[in-house]
Amino acid sequence: MQNPSTEKVGAALGGLDPRKVEALSRRLDLAALVDAASAMSDTQLHALGGMLATQASPRKERPLPAANGDFYDLMSTLSDRQREIAARVRHFMETEVAPIMNGYWSRDEFPQSLIPKLRDLNLTREIWNDDGTRTPDASVTEGIIIMEMCRVDVSTAVFFGVHAGLALASVALGGDERQLKEFMPRLLDLDMVGAFGLTEPEGGSQVSRGLRTTARRDGDSWVLNGEKKWIGNSTFSDVTVIWARDEADDQVKGFLVRRGTPGFEVEKIQGKIALRMVENGHIRLSECRVSEQDRLQRATSFRTTADVLRLTRAGVAWQGVGCAMGAYELALKYAQTREQFGKKIGEFQLIQNHLVHMLGNLTAMQMLCLRLSGMEDAGIMRDEHAALAKVVTAARCRETVALARETFGGNGILLEYGVAKHFCDTEAIYSYEGTNEINTLVVGRAVSGLSAFV
Ligand SMILES: Cc1cc2nc3c(=O)[nH]c(=O)nc-3n(C[C@H](O)[C@H](O)[C@H](O)COP(=O)(O)OP(=O)(O)OC[C@H]3O[C@@H](n4cnc5c(N)ncnc54)[C@H](O)[C@@H]3O)c2cc1C
Repeated sequence: MQNPSTEKVGAALGGLDPRKVEALSRRLDLAALVDAASAMSDTQLHALGGMLATQASPRKERPLPAANGDFYDLMSTLSDRQREIAARVRHFMETEVAPIMNGYWSRDEFPQSLIPKLRDLNLTREIWNDDGTRTPDASVTEGIIIMEMCRVDVSTAVFFGVHAGLALASVALGGDERQLKEFMPRLLDLDMVGAFGLTEPEGGSQVSRGLRTTARRDGDSWVLNGEKKWIGNSTFSDVTVIWARDEADDQVKGFLVRRGTPGFEVEKIQGKIALRMVENGHIRLSECRVSEQDRLQRATSFRTTADVLRLTRAGVAWQGVGCAMGAYELALKYAQTREQFGKKIGEFQLIQNHLVHMLGNLTAMQMLCLRLSGMEDAGIMRDEHAALAKVVTAARCRETVALARETFGGNGILLEYGVAKHFCDTEAIYSYEGTNEINTLVVGRAVSGLSAFV
């Protein structure tokens, strides 16, 4: 006859199928368990039964961690307002941009439908005030906006950066009170789209010295002649800032050229392999007449142009951060799901090495840019600080997107998997707003006290 406690344990085990009881017997001394059970109450025995059932079940697959490119919790260092802005931008990018971006990227076209939606997001006023001053935490806020945009699509961030960075900053730093009143509210509300025309076919890195577009004063107006290359948004911009050399005093001055001005012609640059959703224009100015009222009154030399570029360079460093973040998250998700040799590829050590290398790059870039923008907001950032961040983030981004693309194998070159766009777009980040070489020379000169510019 069976001891009553053995019966009870037997009942507790009875719910388990024999294979599970056998598996348990290899790990537990069932006889000792029966002995111990003799002293247990019914409630304790019930709990024991539940525990044994769990022990006997094969280990359940744990849910894998979500792909998150914010490993050091950068977001926790931001204000509530900045976190809200980041969430707003992320939602916008995922719901409005992600579904349409590949089509527009393939067609080499900017989606005009995004402009009113960006207007509703009201991001420019998070950075600029109507009087042309910046909000107190403008650089960090702008950086976070750009990072969140680039995480999904760099072209959208470039549209925004050209308009709310380069064009708006030109008006804010170079315009007088009347021009600020006329242009700032319309630019801030995106009722007017801006572009920034500095680079020329023969004047890229050397543009400060070799700018050839000319401005000739003629009564109450100026006559512009020359060419500009690569000018983002210029195929549809309402106003394009054109930097031209005054024939009289040889100084570089800024002109607000309105859409439709005779003598201002724009041809869309075709065949880019990066930032295909951005429309870059080749502008030809022939006897293009602009009124004196539309000359930026406080931009009387290249110094203002350089001030504008300094103000926007941190934003370009943030582009590299966002682009790398998006590529890393895509690669991690892919590694968690793609299987080869009966395992998730994320289980292979070499793939984990890629992931950790990417994350290390990305996290270092985030910390660098956060400090850079903090310095800019505090008014202590110098050219060489921004130049170093641009050099480091562009190079680390290039390395990161290449590893991400590699993680996808062949699928990494297909647009539909997402990473290919990041891979290509990085090439533009690498070259604009000061190439790697030019920014390196800026830093080298600052730290050594010796100029290596030729
Ligand atoms: C997608 C895209 C968007 C852009 N948008 C705009 C825009 O909206 N507005 C605008 O005005 N411009 C824009 N640009 C232009 C951009 O700023 C220039 O491409 C950039 O300044 C480099 O000039 P470049 O292409 O003529 O190259 P180059 O100056 O011809 O340089 C060629 C190579 O020579 C190297 N080099 C040049 N000088 C030196 C030196 N002294 N020492 C060592 N190496 C050197 C460069 O680093 C580079 O590797 C854009 C460019 C691109 C690609």
